[in-house]
Amino acid sequence: MFTLTAEQAAIQKMAREFAEKEIMPVAAEYDEQEKFPFPVLRKMWETGLVNYSVPEELGGAGLDTFTSCLVTEELGRGCAGITTAASANSLAFYPILIAGTEEQKKKFIPPITTEGKFAAFCLTEPNAGSDAASVATSAKPVEGGYLLNGSKCFITSGDVADLFVVFATVDKSKGLKGLTAFAVPKTEGISTGKKEIKLGIRASSTVVVNFDNVFVPKENVLGAEGQGFKVAMQTLDTSRPMIGALAVGVARGAYEVALKYSKERVQFGQPIANFQMIQAMLADMATRIDAARLLVWRAAAMIDRKEVPFAKESAMSKLFAGDTAMEVTTNAVQILGGYGYSREYPVEKYMRDAKIMQIYEGTNQIQRLVIAGNILR
Ligand SMILES: Cc1cc2nc3c(=O)[nH]c(=O)nc-3n(C[C@H](O)[C@H](O)[C@H](O)COP(=O)(O)OP(=O)(O)OC[C@H]3O[C@@H](n4cnc5c(N)ncnc54)[C@H](O)[C@@H]3O)c2cc1C
Repeated sequence: MFTLTAEQAAIQKMAREFAEKEIMPVAAEYDEQEKFPFPVLRKMWETGLVNYSVPEELGGAGLDTFTSCLVTEELGRGCAGITTAASANSLAFYPILIAGTEEQKKKFIPPITTEGKFAAFCLTEPNAGSDAASVATSAKPVEGGYLLNGSKCFITSGDVADLFVVFATVDKSKGLKGLTAFAVPKTEGISTGKKEIKLGIRASSTVVVNFDNVFVPKENVLGAEGQGFKVAMQTLDTSRPMIGALAVGVARGAYEVALKYSKERVQFGQPIANFQMIQAMLADMATRIDAARLLVWRAAAMIDRKEVPFAKESAMSKLFAGDTAMEVTTNAVQILGGYGYSREYPVEKYMRDAKIMQIYEGTNQIQRLVIAGNILR
């Protein structure tokens, strides 16, 4: 578990070099302008750095979860916004990979992966965030399928997507048991609304997506009617270590800048790295980053070995890595002092980007509920 294979090390190196050459030089510009990084994503797609966890026969790179986490950490060190934009596809594909039939996988995934297109995972609504069972978007059964009506919010890549994986209810009175997952290729009746202006991960696009009498044939149901909640939870259990890896990448990026700066910045006639209070911060940063990575690797390895259940370990990895990213980036700004607070250095961006790691794909309060639910079972 602790030693990478030659192939894993080579893939990790390739992702690191790509991040340093193609992502880091433009990360501040995309953040500043809050624009979608189409050219960078195209290069990433050509290099195999989008859809890397999708099986090869479906147009992906076929990496296992562990190796995908290695790649995600490297890309996250480059820019969490650009990486979020790239990895939204994987989140949207998981419900199809987890609950879809072979026919559905072949029908919905390759048109996106082989063309460098985008997909969006549509669960959250204005009144259904942490409480996913409150989804109000309706799927009314009609001849041959369903009519979708409702609005989703905070949808990553919703305005650029050609495929939407949508969670809607066939009967709101059934609560959890009414929720159903659908694969919905872009069609008439789907429109996008408000685009969020965000604190961080500003290169990724976060929008409202409206469904207005969108007809979806019954062949597009993922799993079975009423299984949507299970599909959503299995998806998040599988994807959370990736957010953990992204958080580790953000924390590492900020830590590296702070470490270098602490050796160069002279105050009171000596590098600030000589001061024990700075050393303690650096030591805590390094320790937390390693601990977070190990939790991510453990969860990823369990997923790859199909060691069910892994919901607890998956939640622990996201919880700890998300909190680590926030703490480490905040202390990196502290070590750089006023320069850390300035956009001249990248640590303030790392700090802004880190915050989302404690929020999306289940807030860290929700991760604690998942962990407690498992240990008190
Ligand atoms: C940039 C961004 C991108 C996103 N991308 C997507 C996407 O692609 N697809 C998608 O479907 N969603 C996406 N989301 C939505 C995200 O997953 C939700 O914002 C998140 O799950 C929290 O829901 P909420 O914002 O409604 O907060 P709420 O659920 O309203 O929570 C508010 C606060 O209450 C706490 N809380 C809620 N319930 C409990 C409880 N039972 N116990 C203790 N505390 C509780 C929360 O932890 C939080 O601190 C995205 C969000 C953002 C900001």
